[in-house]
Amino acid sequence: MAISRRNFLLGSSAVAVSCASPLFGHAQSIPAPQGEVVLAGGYVLSLDPVIGDLPKGDVHIRNGAIVAIAASIAAPGVPRRDMAGRIVMPGFVDTHWHMWNSIARGFGNSRLGPFAKSMGALSRVWTPEASALSVRLACAEAVQSGITTVNNWAHNIKARDFADAEVEAQKASGLRGRFSYGYPQPIGKAVMMDLDGIEIMRNEEFTEKTRGLLSLGLCVRGPDRCEPVAWRGEWAAAREFKLPITSHIASDRAAAAMGGILTLHREGMLGPDVLLVHATHASPSDLRLLAETKSPLSISPWTELEVGYGLPPLAQMMDARVPMSLSVDNMVLAGNADMFGVMRVTADLAAGMAEKQGALSDRMALQWATMGGAEALGLGKIVGSLTVGKRADLIAVRMDSLNTSPVKNVDFLLTHAARPNDVDFVMIDGVVHKESGRHSRIDVPALLAESADMIRRLRIQADI
Ligand SMILES: [Zn+2]
Repeated sequence: MAISRRNFLLGSSAVAVSCASPLFGHAQSIPAPQGEVVLAGGYVLSLDPVIGDLPKGDVHIRNGAIVAIAASIAAPGVPRRDMAGRIVMPGFVDTHWHMWNSIARGFGNSRLGPFAKSMGALSRVWTPEASALSVRLACAEAVQSGITTVNNWAHNIKARDFADAEVEAQKASGLRGRFSYGYPQPIGKAVMMDLDGIEIMRNEEFTEKTRGLLSLGLCVRGPDRCEPVAWRGEWAAAREFKLPITSHIASDRAAAAMGGILTLHREGMLGPDVLLVHATHASPSDLRLLAETKSPLSISPWTELEVGYGLPPLAQMMDARVPMSLSVDNMVLAGNADMFGVMRVTADLAAGMAEKQGALSDRMALQWATMGGAEALGLGKIVGSLTVGKRADLIAVRMDSLNTSPVKNVDFLLTHAARPNDVDFVMIDGVVHKESGRHSRIDVPALLAESADMIRRLRIQADI
């Protein structure tokens, strides 16, 4: 259906975000949300407990906000975009993604050895330009896959310009999310990360006026991966700065044996502002502590399998009522950012481990990939469901492709049948990023060519 240029949400008169740096590359500037549209006649999977599912419904968006959801919305003069044959639903939220190394897809193994050795060699020759390009590639793949919010786990900040480069690329992408400012690789176990740099960034890049859709947090090594003097100092600084924290925890058996979750609890360091990652070997009592303190958890089953951490204790996580969310982790190991695949492996691992079909429902996997992620990042009142008053971060998934049709129900379609290529439409904060299955804002071939050239040069330098 034709949409007038004046009314459409991608109006070219809109305000652009920063794009002056060469790091920004080929993407077009992101306009401020404006105008109105009704996404009409799709299967509306709101994931809002009051609205529920509308087998045929309309979603009315104005200036980047959802203003109405109903079976039929008469909005005279407002352009309508036909969503028949598509599921209209909230965008996915990824809560743990090391975006900086995305151009190193597949370098989880090399002649130098497994993940730590191969990526260790590459990270030593890494540059701010490589990080920025990787973030751009990751954000492009996120849009491809229907992921509209990301927690960028930046754990190779070797100097301030690395952080600046990643933030600039992430802001320019137009995705919603968090930049979790991290540490350099390598770093001494008793050495604290660049806390001064974080404070400066908070005061300059993340003020009310400068932050845009991005917020700031810290990614830290935590009690499993550094000395108490370092993790206690970093934790205290984050709390002083009033910034949220994310840390890997209990990823393997040796890490779990160090009792990090119990230590954090005893020192009053858990809470809704602490997003822990993996907990593959957390005990049932550890998981209860996370639930009691409302500390959210991010699991990334594909990479937990591939790197050899093991199987996430999904039944215990559910029994304890830990606030759960999902993640792709990194492209080095995961290979792609397919959140449909992450939901599928999560649901099916739960069934296999419990020896019970449906132990983790498809709807629960969908909740973890959307609302669970939004709540884990403190964005539960802003995104995560299609709810009147929330921002318009939503996707449309084709129900009529070869691998999605015919299908018995939409939950199964989304968790077991659909693939990123079935994401037909992506809107973030009211701005269209993908339509008719194609990126609206990115020169994909140019981005891929640039990425291939960059990783080729880094391989030569790292001799890998
Ligand atoms: Zn990680």
